[in-house]
Amino acid sequence: MSRLFLRTLRDDPADAEVPSHRLLVRAGYVRRAAPGIYSWLPLGWRVLRNVEKIVREEMDAIGAQEVHFPAILPREPYEATGRWTEYGDNLFRLKDRKGGDYLLGPTHEEMFTLLVKDLYASYKDLPLNLYQIQTKYRDEQRPRAGILRGREFVMKDSYSFDVDDAGLEAAYELHRQAYIKIFTRLGLDYVIVKATSGAMGGSASEEFLAIAENGEDTFVRSPGGYAANVEAVSTVVPEAIPYEDAPAAHAEQTPDTPTIATLVDHLNEAFPRDDRAWTAADTLKNVLVMLRNPDGTREPLAIGLPGDRDVDEKRLAAQVEPAEVEPFEAKDFAAYPDLKKGYIGPRVLGLENATGIRYLTDPRVVAGSRWVTGADVDGSHVIDLTAERDFVCDGRIEAAEVRAGDPAPDGSGPLELARGIEMGHIFQLGRKYAEALDLKVLDENGKLVTVTMGSYGVGVSRAVAAVVENAHDELGIIWPKELSPFDVHLVIAGKDDAIKAAAEQLAQELDDAGISVLLDDRPKVSPGVKFKDAELIGVPTIVVAGRGIADGVVEVKNRATGDKQDVPLADLVEHLA
Ligand code: ATP
Ligand code: MG
Repeated sequence: MSRLFLRTLRDDPADAEVPSHRLLVRAGYVRRAAPGIYSWLPLGWRVLRNVEKIVREEMDAIGAQEVHFPAILPREPYEATGRWTEYGDNLFRLKDRKGGDYLLGPTHEEMFTLLVKDLYASYKDLPLNLYQIQTKYRDEQRPRAGILRGREFVMKDSYSFDVDDAGLEAAYELHRQAYIKIFTRLGLDYVIVKATSGAMGGSASEEFLAIAENGEDTFVRSPGGYAANVEAVSTVVPEAIPYEDAPAAHAEQTPDTPTIATLVDHLNEAFPRDDRAWTAADTLKNVLVMLRNPDGTREPLAIGLPGDRDVDEKRLAAQVEPAEVEPFEAKDFAAYPDLKKGYIGPRVLGLENATGIRYLTDPRVVAGSRWVTGADVDGSHVIDLTAERDFVCDGRIEAAEVRAGDPAPDGSGPLELARGIEMGHIFQLGRKYAEALDLKVLDENGKLVTVTMGSYGVGVSRAVAAVVENAHDELGIIWPKELSPFDVHLVIAGKDDAIKAAAEQLAQELDDAGISVLLDDRPKVSPGVKFKDAELIGVPTIVVAGRGIADGVVEVKNRATGDKQDVPLADLVEHLA
């Protein structure tokens, strides 16, 4: 350590919101170069390579072959699949000196597809699994939490190529098993959840989420084993209700009730029900947003949902991808004078369709369901407005928040919610990219068939942070053995030459036995500071060479449990091995 390029910091970096960011910067693993862009220091680089090693071993074990693509890519293939535009602001685009368009690869489906097309022509060449561990670039809207969400990050991406669906399913299952091994070896507490396929198209898709309070993803679980990212949860649709005998809708004065809470209070005061009190779930609220398409055009969208639920931004975003959701502003209201803010009803949106705005409703708004909702007049609501009889919509949307206690879509019980960090994603892409880029092979009968593909990602640099989120205490990081930058942190605690000599000899012996050692031989640093640094850095085994040397022992400390034990010098190598 007297020579190591490392400065540990006593204070937390000002911009660090989560423990992994704080600790990885303070313990000298990474340094910020620009927002969402980080440099790896010697300790961090060793950990990153340890993650890569695990990923590589498990990918090699399923017969995937490692390749390496450039990060700077030509525009044309991404133009062919539409992603040059669809990626929107997330794509780093650049020009060369001749004015040619390039991008920094956010993911490499196009390049892998073209490479295979370049070299392969027959079903006999398949199945094929290729992977790379490579730096990706995405101009994320909110780079966050250090390397957890970077604008430059390391991903393992792999792609499978098969002639038929059965082949794709087998490749998907192989990856699934490899990922289980990878995330288990990383020591992560994780769940496998159903995911949306989003802009990538394709069918089956699952995510591996590290369970973590600070995760950006919310997932649900049921007692019967259902697990899904909240974006992928589908609402249990109630049965349609006969409405032949339903009372006619009637508009009522409801002054000063622009919010659901004020409306419900007013209803209970002015129009009490016989059977029970009105609740927010009896109301239908209509939320307007503006969608910005990747080509820059904008279109409004109205969403009708029960008043006791908010629109979940991420669920909505997943539904309208690749368009982005923006607020519906005062100037937008000005463009639609029929919309009475606070009193917008489904009639103006859905029936008379006076506005021409697309109107999508929550799946709970079934035929015959009766609602209190805006009357499209300031200070007025309608009661008993009945779906299908009194208003229609242009379709359904899964944008309402999912709440604890909601039923699982497969009937496996009430859902509970928790948070996680997306560590891996496996996708059955299908033929979308192969079709767009014309990747075909001859089948057994000499007929040209389109290849079917899978795409599989692991967040390699993100894993370094996710592991720290899972494994730290108030003193610092606690690395799992396979990730630790060194096997043993050996502290020289004492000024005696004898202690120093003994420690150096021990370090040599450990090294010879294949046990890597971080030797704290800093001459003018107190033992107290050295211990603090050892705890911060987080090597799982700390050996202290101090006064005990005179009696022929060192202290071996377990960083995770704090357990200490004196071990005779002569036994140390064997003890640690
Ligand atoms: P997210 O939803 O977190 O933005 P994504 O679904 O866009 O991720 P994929 O395209 O599925 O990500 O990428 C595969 C893996 O790469 C992810 O599972 C994640 O572990 C990692 N990853 C994605 N974006 C980032 C990022 N900005 N920084 C670090 N790792 C990332
Ligand atoms: Mg993903």
